[in-house]
Amino acid sequence: MNLLSADAVVIGGGAAGMMCSAVAAERGLDVILLEPNKILGRKLRITGKGRCNVTNNCDIREFLNNIPGDGRFLYSALNRLSPRDTMELFESLGLHLKTERGNRVFPVSDNANDVAGALQRCMNRAGVRVIHSSAKHIITEADTVTGVETCDGVIECRAAVICTGGLSYPLTGSRGAGYKMAQELGHTVTPTRPSLVPLESDDDYCAEMQGFSLKNVTLSAYEDDKLIYKELGEMLFTHFGVSGPLVLSASSHMRRFGEAKYELRIDLKPGLDEKKLDARLLRDFEKYANRDFANSLGDLAGKAMIPVLVRLSGIPAETKVNSITREQRHELLRLLKSFPVSVSGPRPIDEAIVTSGGVSTKEINPRTMQSKLVGGLYFAGEVMDLDAYTGGFNLQIAWSTAYVAANSI
Ligand SMILES: Cc1cc2nc3c(=O)[nH]c(=O)nc-3n(C[C@H](O)[C@H](O)[C@H](O)COP(=O)(O)OP(=O)(O)OC[C@H]3O[C@@H](n4cnc5c(N)ncnc54)[C@H](O)[C@@H]3O)c2cc1C
Repeated sequence: MNLLSADAVVIGGGAAGMMCSAVAAERGLDVILLEPNKILGRKLRITGKGRCNVTNNCDIREFLNNIPGDGRFLYSALNRLSPRDTMELFESLGLHLKTERGNRVFPVSDNANDVAGALQRCMNRAGVRVIHSSAKHIITEADTVTGVETCDGVIECRAAVICTGGLSYPLTGSRGAGYKMAQELGHTVTPTRPSLVPLESDDDYCAEMQGFSLKNVTLSAYEDDKLIYKELGEMLFTHFGVSGPLVLSASSHMRRFGEAKYELRIDLKPGLDEKKLDARLLRDFEKYANRDFANSLGDLAGKAMIPVLVRLSGIPAETKVNSITREQRHELLRLLKSFPVSVSGPRPIDEAIVTSGGVSTKEINPRTMQSKLVGGLYFAGEVMDLDAYTGGFNLQIAWSTAYVAANSI
């Protein structure tokens, strides 16, 4: 690479970098986007199981309720580009959107590639130059950005935007390079942790039921015996513990692994209160009065779960159903309404949907996304210490912060 120059170098061609480079170039800036991957938006293209939950069609107050911790940093950025503005922007780029359950917004085509495609068309039209190389360091003089050093040479510029993402799904390119570049310039990086991540359990029965999924169950999560999450939905048992949509969501409420004790409780029959479930058990026990207990639960639970329910109920498997006592039946009832799964920890960060922690927002101006320490240095997306629950909120953080950074340059 010969010596290049640009007004702005956007580092990272993910959701934030594509949005940032397109908007900055549309405003008339000469922009170079650096992305080592041959295709842009590798992570974006696998979001929402390949459908891309682009945003959440809600107001700003509701949005901030979906940010664990202090979401106020985002207030200004969301006012500049709200979820509705984002939807209009994508529609104007020819991407038709639909809103599903929980205000989750998806492309009508159900294809995440179309989201990346819309942004790429916008970038091309605005004249963004894409260079497939990695940024190594940001060069400064008198605490002001003057260039970016890449694996292939130096690019002179007066603004650099770090959009390198977090640490999750490293095969997509997000490997934490931005943290190092920020730290070299004096920025604080708060400890990174996995969020929206499967959970490990020491309960051997999870592995015993691996591959078995539960639909229409209510999952409750407890931190030191205090309820921190409760939702109806789907989950599944795995060789290491539990996973699936409910578990990922529950995990993002668990912010103190290593300090606090976490436990999950599954209501396997959320549609029946204890009285109704007891009546149902009595009916089943009458129907199967002469069977062994272990052979009487087929109407109540999935095959994979029956041996585990039998064991945890404490009722010997060969007990004849007609000799099960009231107390024993109530024990089974408690198990069906509150099946326990202890949590020993999260899966590793590379299996997480998002990274919690990152470049401290205390050192970034929320109105401009500019560093408070280095002139001409900006941040956008997951590289910052910002994350959200599921529902399209994480991508919206990328869109809004990128939009603000681009307009501020
Ligand atoms: C499986 C999965 C599903 C998800 N589904 C959803 C969803 O449906 N809705 C939602 O809101 N969120 C979802 N997320 C989260 C969302 O994808 C991220 O929050 C979002 O992609 C963050 O955007 P970003 O641009 O900050 O980072 P990324 O998208 O991770 O992009 C960072 C880019 O920087 C590049 N890069 C890294 N280092 C360098 C370097 N040194 N030089 C140049 N470039 C570099 C990387 O190659 C990468 O392309 C999902 C995440 C995963 C893993």
